[in-house]
Amino acid sequence: MFLTKYQWLHLNDFHTPSSTPQLPCPYCLEESLTLDVESLSVDESPAHRCHIAANRSIAETKRNREALGGDGWKLVLAVTELVTKEEATPGIFHSTLYCQDCGGVVLGIGSAIYRSNKNFSTVAVKHEYFCPSVPLFEIASSVPESIRQELLQAFNYFHSDISTAGFKLRRAIERVCEELGYKGKNLHQCIDLMADKHNEEAIWLKALKLVGNEATHANGVNASDLLDAFAVFPGVLQIFERQKFSKDASEKVNALHNKFSKQLK
Ligand SMILES: [Zn+2]
Repeated sequence: MFLTKYQWLHLNDFHTPSSTPQLPCPYCLEESLTLDVESLSVDESPAHRCHIAANRSIAETKRNREALGGDGWKLVLAVTELVTKEEATPGIFHSTLYCQDCGGVVLGIGSAIYRSNKNFSTVAVKHEYFCPSVPLFEIASSVPESIRQELLQAFNYFHSDISTAGFKLRRAIERVCEELGYKGKNLHQCIDLMADKHNEEAIWLKALKLVGNEATHANGVNASDLLDAFAVFPGVLQIFERQKFSKDASEKVNALHNKFSKQLK
């Protein structure tokens, strides 16, 4: 998985633009995608429901802090609480991010909170959408397109709607079972069928399914849970890399066998 859990949670909350971490580039996959702070265009938008998101964000931050532990959250929480006081003005913004390695461009939009007086102004931002989607982990070329599409959407919803990101994660699990040819009356049964050949991956998927179910039907999933699920998913996708390797290897093995077995005759 790219970046640390702390960095993703930091990005997932309101923060100062200059503290935005360097993100993984969707084009070259290097962690070199940098927010151009000068490109930020923030507009006041009192009608924007940003304050609701901000309130939720404080609750989310507290939960994440408890889940992760450590003192780093004290600073994040202090900044969040500072900019979400009643006198803060909600806003919207758009931004441009550039990859320092390949020059690729990513556009972002999101919510901002800022306040200003005679002496100073403070702006905090939270990206809610990136175009194209910023990957949380590398999706190998061997992974079928149907799974890739669900994961790319899950990556993007992570920044705006944790429940929908969890729902998309569940859809990706369904696509994994379909692509591997496991058919059952429900997802649980499909994963059970998978366990005969891929036991460890099936155990992992059952845990991920719980996250997806909770996200779809309840509000118990937070960003920290989703990041744990994203950290496990690449292990499941290695099935497709192994399948590709087996196919390539068997073609070469057959060619070698045909050549040298003929020489033996
Ligand atoms: Zn790049």
